[in-house]
Amino acid sequence: MSTQLNGGSPRYNPLESMNRRFDAAVEVLGLDKQFANVLRVPDKVVMANIPVTMDDGTIQVFEGYRVVHSDHLGPSKGGIRYSMDVNLDEVKALAAWMTWKCAIVNIPYGGAKGGIKCNPRAMSKGELERLTRAYTVSMKEVFGPESDIPAPDMGTGPQEMAWIVDEYSKIKGQNSWAVVTGKPIVLGGSLGRVEATGRGVMVSTRSALAKMGIKPTEATCVVQGFGNVGSKAAKLIEQMGVKIIAISDISGGYYSDEGIDVNAAIEYVANSDTHTLEGFKGVEKVSNTELLELECTVLVPAAMEDQITPENAHKIRAKLIVEGANGPTTAEADSILDEKGILVVPDILANAGGVTVSYFEWVQNRLGYYWTEERVNRRADRAMKLAFDNIYAASEKYNINMRLAAYVVALDKVSTTLKLRGSF
Ligand code: NAD
Repeated sequence: MSTQLNGGSPRYNPLESMNRRFDAAVEVLGLDKQFANVLRVPDKVVMANIPVTMDDGTIQVFEGYRVVHSDHLGPSKGGIRYSMDVNLDEVKALAAWMTWKCAIVNIPYGGAKGGIKCNPRAMSKGELERLTRAYTVSMKEVFGPESDIPAPDMGTGPQEMAWIVDEYSKIKGQNSWAVVTGKPIVLGGSLGRVEATGRGVMVSTRSALAKMGIKPTEATCVVQGFGNVGSKAAKLIEQMGVKIIAISDISGGYYSDEGIDVNAAIEYVANSDTHTLEGFKGVEKVSNTELLELECTVLVPAAMEDQITPENAHKIRAKLIVEGANGPTTAEADSILDEKGILVVPDILANAGGVTVSYFEWVQNRLGYYWTEERVNRRADRAMKLAFDNIYAASEKYNINMRLAAYVVALDKVSTTLKLRGSF
């Protein structure tokens, strides 16, 4: 069912999509409703109105959220999003997805997510710094290396994480590197973190193509979104021998039958004034709608939520969808893709490479001993491959699609922990 979000323009509600899949997994597992009721809702929701002095001297108030969905498997973990579309339902859905994701890749974390309703592109560096530090102060009782560990998400990156670690460390009176991941390398970041999510998307693509009996050199790929996840995934999938025939970002879609030179596109974005693909040469311009409907072997949605919906799902001509973004497919579109025989590697599996390396960063911070990039990549690839094989086996065991299988595996693990730990 489509819903109007509180204050947002999206027509689909990611929380509703999450809940529908959750309920279906509860049915498959035959999970006792009393445990399902605990895990269907977040543990904790914190909302703060954050006043920030802008460069022109005026004070503006920003809405900031942190939702802790679960800490049954360990401290909660999840990114912070800066976007005008941030709203409580979205943050709740993203927090729950983090719980399932961490369970799937077998890391000892629960799930959380944060967000600030703001337009980071319209703010100066100084304004962003004051906002990030003020948000950290508001969330000082929630964040902590043993309680809740934020990371970057859309609209945030290593610089915001550096401000968070600095502000939190000042509050605590000591350097607390492990309070946040996705930090710059010189501030305790991990080698391999920047590429980690895209790498996981690549490992998922490679594993799925192998199951489908398709050679990478015979495959084509379309990538929606050319930010951290999309550009790195495109580069690594291209390195596998797959021809990348289209890419896109906020400025539109770019298609080439001959294949796109992904490194050239990355360089173009880095040097362009707008930091987008606008004006990228030697390609045909297509709309984002057309891009999703292109004939290809692999489609990687790596931009944002609700891109594959009942309106366009029946027009999708990919054989395989590997979800780099969180929630790119609405729950109503799942059955349409199933009927078309499209294999979908769901978000909570496909993009879990990022949180896996975030976990490695936290481990390295606590050890005070730093790994080589080769070691990080090797361990992350192994974790992603194991998770893929495990979910694929569960989908065969229960005769369900991989998305439902991923929820089933995650829910089984978290609910078992919940039963063992007990409650008041
Ligand atoms: P980003 O901000 O770096 O990139 C987003 C990209 O999407 C940009 O290229 C932007 O231009 C493009 N985009 C925005 N609106 C678009 C539209 N309407 N059509 C086409 N392209 C559009 O963000 P990111 O970190 O790459 O995250 C992308 C997705 O992956 C999000 O759903 C995020 O939650 C998810 N994710 C990110 C990570 C991570 O490590 N960064 C980890 C897991 C999941």
